[in-house]
Amino acid sequence: MNDSAIAESTPPLKREKKAVKANKITEENSDAYTTVGQAFSENAKMSMTNVDVFYGEKQAIYDVNLDIGTNEVVAMIGPSGCGKSTFLRCLNRMNDTIDTCRVTGNFFLEDQNINDKKMDVVPLRARVGMVFQKPNPFPKSIYDNVAYGARIHGLADRRSDLDEIVETSLQKAGLWNEVKDRLQQPGTGLSGGQQQRLCIARTIAVSPEVILMDEPCSALDPIATAKIEELIDELSQNYTIAIVTHSMQQAARVSHRTAYFHLGKLIEVNETEKVFTNPDHDLTEAYITGRFG
Ligand code: ADP
Ligand code: MG
Repeated sequence: MNDSAIAESTPPLKREKKAVKANKITEENSDAYTTVGQAFSENAKMSMTNVDVFYGEKQAIYDVNLDIGTNEVVAMIGPSGCGKSTFLRCLNRMNDTIDTCRVTGNFFLEDQNINDKKMDVVPLRARVGMVFQKPNPFPKSIYDNVAYGARIHGLADRRSDLDEIVETSLQKAGLWNEVKDRLQQPGTGLSGGQQQRLCIARTIAVSPEVILMDEPCSALDPIATAKIEELIDELSQNYTIAIVTHSMQQAARVSHRTAYFHLGKLIEVNETEKVFTNPDHDLTEAYITGRFG
């Protein structure tokens, strides 16, 4: 049988599978590094192109292109060490704090290239806030934790304005009812889940447009995790969110689109449901079915 005869006799599903198999990353086949799926958004809040990141000589991110849509939740998944945190940190210039780290490429927050050396990172980090893996409240009262950024950025002239910012932020973070009677107690005295919501309140208090979250639930128990996930869903009505997670279930629950990273390359971006049910790329499929990671 010649090739076309084989193709004719192969049921369509099998042929599809074969085509995907050819999509493997090998040294010789560098074209395959091109991200498959839907990396772009019609309504982008942030738009990244040709992003490379190096730690000294070592390259950690290879030519990544990705949009994050307005009020969209984008999840970033992939095996440990694939560059998720590195990429996320680019989005508010947190990599500037790492001496050996060099970032090239374009990072547009609406029409501003935030990778421009003239960009002032202090207001940038108010517009693009970050919530870390381990809750990191300041050794201050609950009130002062939330008021911190608002004070620094001069967002409130009067005490009553500051009170209002603190209350609304705690409400949006789903923490107000639990702490309203003990605002002057230390933030570090709260449970882990409450501390993480406090950190989210602190981020919200400076009215960000984008919230970056790097495995925000990895230090939390399942109940605290469920609360944060609910919160992410609510927050996405008003904010644009990029979340790194090692939990595929979490990505599936909270995100609209999912980006799969592998060895510093953005392999696939698609609607979350598609990524977890019918991914375009072999490597994505291998990861979601637990063959590595
Ligand atoms: P992930 O968040 O997906 O686990 P990271 O972004 O932390 O991955 O790491 C990507 C790669 O960059 C890894 O090889 C890691 O060792 C390297 N890396 C991360 N942070 C640093 C750093 N501060 N200095 C040097 N190499 C780093
Ligand atoms: Mg990480």
